[in-house]
Amino acid sequence: MTTPVSTTDHKPEPWYEEAEGDRCPHGPEPEDDTTDAWDTWQERHQWSPQDVRICLDAPIGDHCAECSADRGDLVPWADCPNNPANLPEPTALPTRYVVSCLPEGHDDRYTFTVQVTYSGNGLYTVKRFLSLADANGNWEIEPGWPETDIDAQQAWLKQRLFDHDTALALAKQLAPTLTYRGRTVADALAAPAV
Ligand SMILES: [Zn+2]
Ligand SMILES: [Zn+2]
Repeated sequence: MTTPVSTTDHKPEPWYEEAEGDRCPHGPEPEDDTTDAWDTWQERHQWSPQDVRICLDAPIGDHCAECSADRGDLVPWADCPNNPANLPEPTALPTRYVVSCLPEGHDDRYTFTVQVTYSGNGLYTVKRFLSLADANGNWEIEPGWPETDIDAQQAWLKQRLFDHDTALALAKQLAPTLTYRGRTVADALAAPAV
């Protein structure tokens, strides 16, 4: 059975070379442990939590003890996957815009609104009621396709899918031009329908 590793166990800790290593300036442990020399030596060489006698004067930088134990090798903090610097950056994807010249709460707002909706693959539709706009700003309801005619449906849709900026610009261009039963955006703003 494996236990998930808590992220709190991963943290930067100052690590040191082993006593008597290449960078230890103190030399070997004095044989006589009653001397001042031995006292000085053992002061600079402590037992690490990993039961290694380390030299406090031979630092090797911050390491992650948890990762090092997992991998059986020295893992610098910079390489720990739980180091915040190594966490992936989240991205934010806008999936829908409501584009209208009418203020929120206006009775006719929905009627005079263009919806920009994410459709996948980085592309958006520009929609009003059941109609989609093409690049020329013409509205058309998707025809009922025969089941066999996937190509025609794809071709029709392809002309009505836009990248984010294009879709938003098109929606903003169309929103002021919307009409409903002869009424314009200006009419709706002047006198809401009853
Ligand atoms: Zn040393
Ligand atoms: Zn780690």
